[in-house]
Amino acid sequence: MKKSLAFAVWLAVSTAASAASSATTPAAAVPDGPVAHTFHVGALEVIALRDKVRSIPNDARVFGAEAGASAVAAVLAEAGASTDHIDLSVDALLVKDGAKTILLDTGLGPSAQGLLLDSLKQTRYTPEQITDVLITHVHGDHVGGLLTRDGAQAFTKATVHISAPDWAWLQEQANMAALVKIISPQVVTFAPGDQVAPGIRSVPLKGHTPGHVGYQIVSGKARLLDVGDLVHSPILSLAKPDWTITFDKDRTEGAATRRAELAKLAANHETIFAPHFPFPGIGTIKAVGDHFVWQPAN
Ligand SMILES: [Zn+2]
Repeated sequence: MKKSLAFAVWLAVSTAASAASSATTPAAAVPDGPVAHTFHVGALEVIALRDKVRSIPNDARVFGAEAGASAVAAVLAEAGASTDHIDLSVDALLVKDGAKTILLDTGLGPSAQGLLLDSLKQTRYTPEQITDVLITHVHGDHVGGLLTRDGAQAFTKATVHISAPDWAWLQEQANMAALVKIISPQVVTFAPGDQVAPGIRSVPLKGHTPGHVGYQIVSGKARLLDVGDLVHSPILSLAKPDWTITFDKDRTEGAATRRAELAKLAANHETIFAPHFPFPGIGTIKAVGDHFVWQPAN
């Protein structure tokens, strides 16, 4: 029960947001719907794919649990954002790496209104062409899309790479048993830090889940780091990196990792893909005083 708390919280928040959407919660301020954005990292073709935009209420249940909703509202207001809700995109990446066609995360899945497969239709790739799926961590908004609406494998030709600690943790969760059963034949595990594709190495990012990783994509001198759930909101996660987030399994470790990694990313001017930042989630982190700001790529 405790082990699936973060996923349960995500579901509860999502449900609350949908229930309220027809009443008081305003619609997401950013556009939703299927979209694909193609760019290059060195010689590699990379495509950002939108799965969904979630709007969660600012009730200090996820962000700012210690600081409180009014402190959260103050940070949102300072950034010119609505103060009563927080928009979180759910996006994934496709990377064409030599003979491999690789998907990094899979979104919520069609049974949770995820539109990743519709976004994929806007590209020249089909689900059957995906050779490898790299999972950053096993929360539902990253692995839900491994299943079709009918509960079958969504990427039938793909090997699904999951870190060994996260695969072990997923198998302990009763509410994920159906998913585990269907994807088991596809899964291979790796140790956080391992090379997982010709141009892609996993990067341990501790705190969010037992084996949460980012993925460093490299081609020649060009680099892009998929940071997974190191950050969620380009406003709150960067203005208040030390605030804990309920989605983190170990909240203290998650906040420490966020602070340390953001400082490194800013110092190195690293280009990142943040799956929960506004689509396409590509940009850099800038250090400002004791916090950070998001600089979306053009
Ligand atoms: Zn997530």
